[in-house]
Amino acid sequence: MEQTVKALHEQRSKLWDASIANHAKYIDPKTGLFETKWTQNRPCPVCKEDNCIAIFEKEGGVYVKCLGCEMVYINPVFTDSALTHYYQSNHSVQSEIVENSDEFYVNLYNQGLDSIERISSKGTILDIGCSSGVFLDVAQKRSWQTHGVELNEKEFEFAQKKGHHVHNALLETLDLKTKFDAITLWDVFEHIKDGEFYLKMMSKLLQKNGVIFLQIPSSDSLAAKILQEKCNMFDGLEHVNIYGVKTITKLAEKCGLAVLDIRTVISEIGVINNYLSYENPYLGNTTNKTTIPNLIDEKTLHEKLLGYKLQVVLGVKA
Ligand SMILES: [Zn+2]
Repeated sequence: MEQTVKALHEQRSKLWDASIANHAKYIDPKTGLFETKWTQNRPCPVCKEDNCIAIFEKEGGVYVKCLGCEMVYINPVFTDSALTHYYQSNHSVQSEIVENSDEFYVNLYNQGLDSIERISSKGTILDIGCSSGVFLDVAQKRSWQTHGVELNEKEFEFAQKKGHHVHNALLETLDLKTKFDAITLWDVFEHIKDGEFYLKMMSKLLQKNGVIFLQIPSSDSLAAKILQEKCNMFDGLEHVNIYGVKTITKLAEKCGLAVLDIRTVISEIGVINNYLSYENPYLGNTTNKTTIPNLIDEKTLHEKLLGYKLQVVLGVKA
């Protein structure tokens, strides 16, 4: 398992370099920031106030923190047409990673399904951005009827061949006849600029007592707070909204949803220990991945919701 995680970071590091190289054509060399023709300013995506401070720059983008609600987000952000341009010319190989590091992801998927099944009945499930369907495979093994949405054509075909009901179009353009007991977004919601619009749209697709499940990087995580701009969750372009416990709760409530379960996964203690030992956080040599000596251990870290990613279950308020 540990070897898998290290291999994962090495693989990510290569991907990261490729992805960042793609940022270059959008950057103004004079400022080191994205050219303004690609971007637009925006208010806080959670509380809609226009009162933020810049916290750091990352690979052409600027992350800010809302002084009203503490939401962390990219501002200015790529316009919709610039994002389309970017995603079309920057083919993600994320699905390759998922196929190659099954065990790591399958564990996370099973943890998520445990949380969902504690609350929802086991019927139809819709995975948004399902890639090649690795999560849907796991859900199917646990007797869910599996549906997915995937824009990438190759990944869509791959998932469909495995017997999942997959759509190759944006969710907002689909006229779905099915209602779902669960809608899942694995590492997807942080890419969506207007989370409020999306949550409201998804809640209309739920069965009575259905749930929405999100796995998202957490601005409250110890790794993010210690590593700041060195932390991989901040990429400057794709991860436009970084929620924490308070801000995802606030957004859910605005959409008539309640947080039914919230927990963290992935401690990143090994990464933090590398950094605290003056090494490269992701590629350093620290072997201690379970405690930050004299400070905190993995179990306490998750109890305090300080893990790298949040797994959140939302349901329609009664
Ligand atoms: Zn705010």
